[in-house]
Amino acid sequence: MICQEMLALGQSRSCIRELFEYGLKQAAVVGKENVFDFSIGNPSIPSPPKVNESFVDIVRTEDSLDVHGYTPAPGYPGVRKAVADDLNARFGADVRPENLFFTCGAAPALISVIRALAVQDAEIVGIAPYFAEYRPFIENNGAKFVVTPPDMEHFQIRFDELAKRINAHTQAVLINTPNNPSGVVYTRETLEKLAQLLTEKSREVGHPVYLISDEPYRELVYDGAVVSWVPSIYPNTVVCYSYSKSLSLPGERIGYVCVPDSAEDSAQLFAAVAGAARVLGHVCPPSLQQRVVARCAAERPDLEAYDKNRRALYEALTGFGYVCPKANGAFYMFVKAPGGSSKAFSDRAKEKNVLVVPGNDFGCPEYFRLCTCVSYDTIQRSLPLFKELIESYR
Ligand code: PLP
Repeated sequence: MICQEMLALGQSRSCIRELFEYGLKQAAVVGKENVFDFSIGNPSIPSPPKVNESFVDIVRTEDSLDVHGYTPAPGYPGVRKAVADDLNARFGADVRPENLFFTCGAAPALISVIRALAVQDAEIVGIAPYFAEYRPFIENNGAKFVVTPPDMEHFQIRFDELAKRINAHTQAVLINTPNNPSGVVYTRETLEKLAQLLTEKSREVGHPVYLISDEPYRELVYDGAVVSWVPSIYPNTVVCYSYSKSLSLPGERIGYVCVPDSAEDSAQLFAAVAGAARVLGHVCPPSLQQRVVARCAAERPDLEAYDKNRRALYEALTGFGYVCPKANGAFYMFVKAPGGSSKAFSDRAKEKNVLVVPGNDFGCPEYFRLCTCVSYDTIQRSLPLFKELIESYR
């Protein structure tokens, strides 16, 4: 017999994948240049030069058996130290190498933390709009996903709604800033209010309510937006990080969980994360990628192209009458669907070969998501189509 839940998951393709695959098919019919695919968040800037140079140099100069061998499950001591040093230098944090558990990207990092906290009747509270995979990650790893409705004005956090959703079963609140899909960065004020609420709630429920901070876009901020080291604001924070976006390495699968000393039961929680990773089939993070990260821990992306795209789209779309928050992070824009239904808008846009993702799976069906990690030319040539689309609703 086959497990029906897994069968259903395997057979249901995400809306993003479906659009992306539709785009590839359409490209064969109408030509690649006539498909305006804003569906998938694949980085469109190359990795910093040092990253590719490191890959080549490591393979050329280091011992092949070492480079391709198993590594310690949490990662090489060298990469853990290089990243801890970088975090400390950058944020004034006090991360020790032993706080870092390297994973194959943010997805398994998140799942390991979720599983580590999935006691009986565990609930994890997310904030809409949220990364669509949170639901399957949480619901298939022993916890209930509880959703806080979106703040449709500023895309920060509705604290009154969040407070109502935290109870004795709540193990953690899960945030993602800079945010996919809104592109908005939570302000310092938002994080401080969150810390205050979680401190009060932890006291009230009699156990720590952890904060899981999912940060694959931490390095992608614009307009002077500042990202904070979240554990310095709320000590019971566990950070999940990925190099997929910051170093444009999504296919190479490398990231980490950081369980800082400040988190309650830090050593046990770290061990539980390691246990959960083991159950999920984690043996070690990819050895070559760890070596690259060790050399490139201080590398940052060149954001000029993303910033140019973001400005061009925002100015043009708002000029046409679209409504959207000004994204100051990641590479997404979240736009209010003319007509009210993002699914209907996405279908209408698809007829013009403009592919945008409806917000239903992000917990916000009134908005659609645009990935701004496309070429500037794609943006420029898509603008008349966006204009026609909004005009078709008047
Ligand atoms: N979290 C968020 C908010 C994301 O947008 C993504 C990927 O797009 C992930 C996690 C997973 O990233 P990774 O490629 O590191 O598994």
